[in-house]
Amino acid sequence: AAIIEIDRLSKQYGSGTKALDDVSLTIDEGEIIALLGPNGAGKTTLISVICGLVVPTGGTVRVGGHDIRRDWRAARKLIGLVPQEIALPPFESVMNCVRFTRGLYGMAPDDAYLERILRALALWDKRDAATRELSGGMKRRVLIAKALSHRPKVLFLDEPTAGVDVALRREMWEVVGDLRREGVTIILTTHYLEEAEEMADRVGVINRGQLLLVRPTAELMGEFGRKT
Ligand code: ADP
Ligand code: ADP
Repeated sequence: AAIIEIDRLSKQYGSGTKALDDVSLTIDEGEIIALLGPNGAGKTTLISVICGLVVPTGGTVRVGGHDIRRDWRAARKLIGLVPQEIALPPFESVMNCVRFTRGLYGMAPDDAYLERILRALALWDKRDAATRELSGGMKRRVLIAKALSHRPKVLFLDEPTAGVDVALRREMWEVVGDLRREGVTIILTTHYLEEAEEMADRVGVINRGQLLLVRPTAELMGEFGRKT
């Protein structure tokens, strides 16, 4: 079933930049889709519009059937967003950070669920550590745990491996693989074709605000003459 329905979306910033130009896309529950494109292509804008953080100039977005503009509260509950920038309170413990985010959604505490996601992200042993003591990779996983704290159906990862080394990039790929097994729908952005191929079921190529093509990963690899 469709979890995200994007219909003829456009966004022109006040500066005149057309960041999204007539984008339509339907994403099914449980799917992992990578939005691939160079810097400035419109990937972050697309994610921000779907999450209700940027108001589109035209078109509609539905998340779980809820129109993001008319029914933002209901839609937002279904969404977890992992931003590009790492911003964590340095002296709080991992567990407190995640509990706090869950509280922001007005949800009752559920430490059993939080334990499950911390274990899935290999953070359980670090639950009492202050976030400033963590490595860069662990901090990124804390951001993911926070984004999952309210049990969203859809997780957005904006450039999850921007500025990280090869080892960390592989670690992120594994995390995405583990979340797939949890049944979470994932939308990630990247400018690496290799990364899109590694993690996603489908790849959407975006440039200058236009969604140029959307293909199952295996097909795309064929088109680019690559070997599996
Ligand atoms: P809108 O009309 O959607 O509000 P604006 O062009 O007025 O968009 O810009 C909104 C904010 O984004 C401003 O604070 C501006 O400084 C900032 N901004 C402008 N250009 C860029 C850019 N290329 N990338 C990121 N932020 C930008
Ligand atoms: P990507 O995530 O693919 O790098 P963005 O969505 O950040 O692309 O940017 C798409 C285009 O919109 C770029 O030309 C960028 O400079 C512009 N842009 C992004 N945010 C803003 C903003 N707040 N105000 C004005 N222009 C923006």
